[in-house]
Amino acid sequence: MTLEIIRIPVLSDNYVWLVHEPVSGETMAVDPAIAEPVLEEAKARGWTITQIWNTHWHPDHTGGNAAIKDATGCTITGPAAEAERIPTLDRMVAEGDTVMLGAAEARVIDVPAHTAGHIAFHFGEDQAAFVGDTLFAMGCGRLFEGTAEQMYANMRKLEALGDATRVYCAHEYTLSNGRFALTVEPDNAALVERMNEITAMRDRGEATVPTTIALERVTNPFMRASSVEELAERRAAKDAA
Ligand code: FE
Ligand code: ZN
Repeated sequence: MTLEIIRIPVLSDNYVWLVHEPVSGETMAVDPAIAEPVLEEAKARGWTITQIWNTHWHPDHTGGNAAIKDATGCTITGPAAEAERIPTLDRMVAEGDTVMLGAAEARVIDVPAHTAGHIAFHFGEDQAAFVGDTLFAMGCGRLFEGTAEQMYANMRKLEALGDATRVYCAHEYTLSNGRFALTVEPDNAALVERMNEITAMRDRGEATVPTTIALERVTNPFMRASSVEELAERRAAKDAA
């Protein structure tokens, strides 16, 4: 199985991911903030969107649900714990459930903290994880509806997906995250090197995601926090920065 995964930049810094499974011809949009550029991208590729998967209820992840469903008749899957806040959901899922995109199977992982019911989707065979606003390149989501303890547990779950796993996050926050990470670990050589790389990439107008679990394990101050307390301190410091 080789999924085709297309990045669609929308709004100021969101990424919508369009995922195409070539055997069945199914196409799925992850967290469509808005509809139009997502429908256009699919059309340009000759694809029809059959599914939407939502990681959490925030409007910049679900705002395009209704219009894409109207245009395509797709089915929408999202977190059971946030069903009341995502009225367009057809299927509610939680940890341990599997969701199919054609022949490709994804497992649902509960990653509460940014929102209380936040989930991630992991395609095991393709080694791809869609993590919404839980894990970013060198960062993590703000703790709007959850605790540092939950986010610490989320980091353990995500790092356990393995180094080769590509991580598809929902925002381009890398530069700001990296600047903060350098204040935490100024002597981390892997971090210094990565910052040089991504600074050049941003100067060229390039996207810096997806990232990988391997890269996050060596450069992400939240994944690298050695305790709940340390993660909480770093999250508070980043929020205040
Ligand atoms: Fe969010
Ligand atoms: Zn977001």
